[in-house]
Amino acid sequence: MVKIAVIGGGPGGYVAAIRGAQLGAEVTLIEKDKLGGTCLNVGCIPTKALLHSAGLYEEVKNGSNVGIMAEPKLDFKQVQAHKAEVVERLVSGVTGLMKVNKIKYIKGTAEFERADTLRIRSENGVQAATFDKIIIASGSVPFLPPIPGIEHPCCIDSAGALSLEEVPSSMVIIGGGVIGIELATAYSAFGSKITIVEMMPEILPMMDGELTRIVRKNLERKGIKILTATKVVSIEDQQKCAGVRVEAQGKEEVISGEKVLVCVGRRADTESLQLQKANIKTERGRITVNEWMQTSQPNVYAIGDCASPVMLAHIASAQGELTAEHALGHAGVYLEQTNPSCVYTEPEFAAVGLTEEKAKEKKIDYIVGKFPLAANGKALIMNGGEGMIKIIADAKYKEVLGMHILGPRATDLITEGALAIRLEATLEELISTIHAHPTLGEAVRESALAGEKRAIHIP
Ligand code: FAD
Repeated sequence: MVKIAVIGGGPGGYVAAIRGAQLGAEVTLIEKDKLGGTCLNVGCIPTKALLHSAGLYEEVKNGSNVGIMAEPKLDFKQVQAHKAEVVERLVSGVTGLMKVNKIKYIKGTAEFERADTLRIRSENGVQAATFDKIIIASGSVPFLPPIPGIEHPCCIDSAGALSLEEVPSSMVIIGGGVIGIELATAYSAFGSKITIVEMMPEILPMMDGELTRIVRKNLERKGIKILTATKVVSIEDQQKCAGVRVEAQGKEEVISGEKVLVCVGRRADTESLQLQKANIKTERGRITVNEWMQTSQPNVYAIGDCASPVMLAHIASAQGELTAEHALGHAGVYLEQTNPSCVYTEPEFAAVGLTEEKAKEKKIDYIVGKFPLAANGKALIMNGGEGMIKIIADAKYKEVLGMHILGPRATDLITEGALAIRLEATLEELISTIHAHPTLGEAVRESALAGEKRAIHIP
């Protein structure tokens, strides 16, 4: 029986472990903290739980036009309790999956002794064990930029923001990426005065520019202040608050925050692994891998945040399945272009494949099909008529190359775009697929029609 070790129990590691066990391997999973990793404990799930409460709170407050008159009361302790309950249920679900799949789970820290041998430190002491294949899925940790004053007690990272006991009266968020924007959305709805400081010319730089500008306007309309092309110079003490000194075009100002949330990115968590002992190469902090996620030692794989430039849970899981299959002699498929990116703003923002900017950069001859959600019945029913669906297709064959959705349930709808790209579908194939009425999905079909210059519901 092939012996596989998996280091890390996040969405990369636990999925790899299950797939390995399904294929008949003897799998040991070593996790130093909690099963579920960043995603379940301090990432995807807790943020979305907070955002769900925040969204509901806003929806009830603004429900008068659909006939709901109520003044909701925020019980933030219960918001946090709901979040904790969801996290606990999911973590215990993963624990159950380890048992059902007969995976040996060790709560401990693994480090390399050699390319095939791990030293595992747990409450039972230190043991060395040899494996045929090792999958590293050690994830990532927040990156703390070297800003003078960043050690101020008011400064928190995303995990800190997710476990606050009270809603701060004000929060300065350093970093206008996905995590910063999502936490801004949640805490602004809960009543915090939010300022986002972003060094780049625009927030969410990897997303479609046209739709991002609408997202920005939506955030600003909610009272969130966004300073782009602005650099944080230092963080100063202001008794119970911190003052964030920022600079833009030679002018400085100090913004006060009861909390300063630092979310400028994350870095691979490889420090505890002693990779040099196994001669495993890294590049700019990430473990170097080939297309099969093999490291410089072919029996050792690295997946998810510790190896991937794009840090997302579904990427870690897809790579987990792929590597377990490859390690056991099966060929898997991993297609980068079908990776969706989701931002849980209100309304949601999701994308897959090429943006218009990337299509231009790559000199691809493309066409665009756009459909405003103001012309979609379901979106209007849901008070979500402000968004848009945008499809990028190859000009000659009309193959779908990218889909960008701003609107209600965008994060669920984007799967249609991912599937279209996976199947190399054309606009005509989206059009000839009947979409139920009234649904948001009809707007996907209409944007494909718009790409073919024959939209029905726009003049
Ligand atoms: P992780 O989930 O980080 O798991 C790695 C595990 O390895 C950890 O549990 C760690 O304790 C363990 N470990 C590390 N070193 C060792 C060692 N030496 N021995 C034993 N164990 C070790 N992604 C999405 O797709 N959608 C989202 O909505 C989303 N929201 C996010 C929100 C926030 C606030 C954050 C911070 C992240 C979010 N992400 C989201 C990113 C997502 O959480 C990560 O991409 C994902 O968790 C990566 O999975 P992983 O398995 O590679 O690593």
